[in-house]
Amino acid sequence: MAGSEMGEDRYSRLRLIPWWDQARIAACRVLVIGAGALGNEILKNLALLGFRRVVVVDLDRIELSNLSRTILYRKEDVGELKAVAAARAYRTLNEEALVQPIAAHVIHDCGLGLFEWADVILAGLDNREARLWINRAAWKVGRPWIDGAIEGINGVARVFLPGHAPCYECTLGEVDWAILERRMSCNLLAHRSDAEGKVPTTPTISSIIAGIQVQEAVKLLHGLPTLASRGFVFEGLNHTSYVVEYTENPDCMSHYTLPALARLAESSAEWTVEQLWQRAQRDLGTHEVVLEFSRDVIWRLLCPRCGAVEERFAAVGSVLYDEGACSCDGQQRVVETIHGYTGGEAWGSRKLTELGLPLLDIFVARSSEREIGYLPEGDRAAVLGVAGAEAK
Ligand SMILES: [Zn+2]
Ligand SMILES: [Zn+2]
Repeated sequence: MAGSEMGEDRYSRLRLIPWWDQARIAACRVLVIGAGALGNEILKNLALLGFRRVVVVDLDRIELSNLSRTILYRKEDVGELKAVAAARAYRTLNEEALVQPIAAHVIHDCGLGLFEWADVILAGLDNREARLWINRAAWKVGRPWIDGAIEGINGVARVFLPGHAPCYECTLGEVDWAILERRMSCNLLAHRSDAEGKVPTTPTISSIIAGIQVQEAVKLLHGLPTLASRGFVFEGLNHTSYVVEYTENPDCMSHYTLPALARLAESSAEWTVEQLWQRAQRDLGTHEVVLEFSRDVIWRLLCPRCGAVEERFAAVGSVLYDEGACSCDGQQRVVETIHGYTGGEAWGSRKLTELGLPLLDIFVARSSEREIGYLPEGDRAAVLGVAGAEAK
């Protein structure tokens, strides 16, 4: 720190920008979803700018073909989880950072409490399904999210603020919905998506779009005007760039904000569904309470031919169509889902961790009068790791 007495430290050039607030950046909690081409550039920028509290989510492992677009990975990292290698590389760029890798599927394995933890969410994904999920989660917990998308040498960066339409879902057209619906079979089991991760991209366009994304995050943090509800489009062939305006969809399903949260000190392994429902009855002052899940759950699979019943408890979308066949006779089974507890269901004695829902999720209890969200904060350490350690 020899230089600091002369006003020189790692961030002294950044501080020359009149509105720059390094402390605000250091304190900001960032959730980065996707550690591919865009995610690498996003994380690199965050590390250089001095963001210290970061969670990075990615389910995949590094392949040799990723190395042309991923500054954080080396040849010896091939085969390793992207989230883990990215978190490690982040700390080599910024040794003060608390970076937690989460090897998880963003739709099925990330609780709403993870989104709620973040001050800002940055996404570098290659599919509409994950974007739609993030969009709904972000609006529910009142957090801004910044999306990036790239293909070839073109790309777009967009900022979506909670409570401010148009949101990402508002931008979806008929073609987008058709693509989204193709993923789910008519009995709610998921079709394999082989196209994911095979989008043609370059490190040059990912650095341009991720640069805009992180710069928008910095501006947002400082209360400066952003691309809110708009998109910055860059076309690499002719260096054309423009800002696209979106239109609000009055029927959009994303415009829902969760009620005030009751923060439970316990982990979700310490509550059964029935116990939490009873707590909600007391808090809401009525017996007429529904305890709603953050997402639909596959309860069981029934074979219409032989009558076999298999209890499953897995998030809808996480079970593949191929798994739907009965092991006795090959008949495609009927899927029964649940999305909440109304009292008396046979599975009420299950722990919250035995429902197929992620840790640090939010359960919304509803009566005819009002609603409360329950967040088992005892899950924080298991989910957030080093990044969850509170500075203050
Ligand atoms: Zn919307
Ligand atoms: Zn059968």
